[in-house]
Amino acid sequence: MTADRVEELASGLADVEQRIARACAAAGRERGDVTMVAVSKTWPASDVLALASLGVVDFGESYDQEAAAKAQTLRAAAVPVRWHFVGRVQRNKCRSLARYAHVVHSLDRGPVVEALGRAAERDGRRVDALVQVSFDGDGDPDGARGGCRPEDASALADVVAGTPGLRLRGVMTVPPVGGDPRSVFDRLATLSAALRSAHPEATEVSAGMTADLEPAIAAGATLVRIGTALFGPRAPRG
Ligand SMILES: *Cc1c(COP(=O)(O)O)cnc(C)c1O
Repeated sequence: MTADRVEELASGLADVEQRIARACAAAGRERGDVTMVAVSKTWPASDVLALASLGVVDFGESYDQEAAAKAQTLRAAAVPVRWHFVGRVQRNKCRSLARYAHVVHSLDRGPVVEALGRAAERDGRRVDALVQVSFDGDGDPDGARGGCRPEDASALADVVAGTPGLRLRGVMTVPPVGGDPRSVFDRLATLSAALRSAHPEATEVSAGMTADLEPAIAAGATLVRIGTALFGPRAPRG
């Protein structure tokens, strides 16, 4: 870890903090209502350690193998981190996920809810769970971003809430690339409000990334998932 890199991360963090604070002020919301998740996928554990030393606690990952290795490194260093899994959940990765993930943002179908719940229960853990919703039209269950159809979200939330090993905490979305994310964030907020009448504990709204954290916060996001603005541009995955 070079001093330059630490400085780069500190400056990225200051910029993101300022953007979040301004967006909260503009929306008449408390800064404390919004948690920043630093999405560290593709970046080394040394970057996570550096940001953790600057006070960041919440980190997001998208690929189980990479995330499990980083979680091990941070655990060995006795640095407390809250791991958020934001990538597609595969059924055969749930046993691994259940060992380190504190929050899984991307539950979008029954079989993975069951598998993750069973794995967490076996380990004596309870994992916070969000239902990922896609507003693309047909849903995107086999696509790259994932998400259930909006009309299926409430039933899936019921399943999550009834699964020992999981704790239903809210909803998440990733808007389609290129469109206006505002209507998507508004629809997620509406869906979240409806869901809370049946599940008052489902208060988390995970929305907003580097390009669109301001409209997400304006629409009520409680978790923003920030990668590029903190770490820099990711290399294409090969
Ligand atoms: C990679 C990723 C992010 C971070 O995106 P940036 O545009 O780099 O901030 C957020 N959410 C999910 C689901 C991601 O996969």
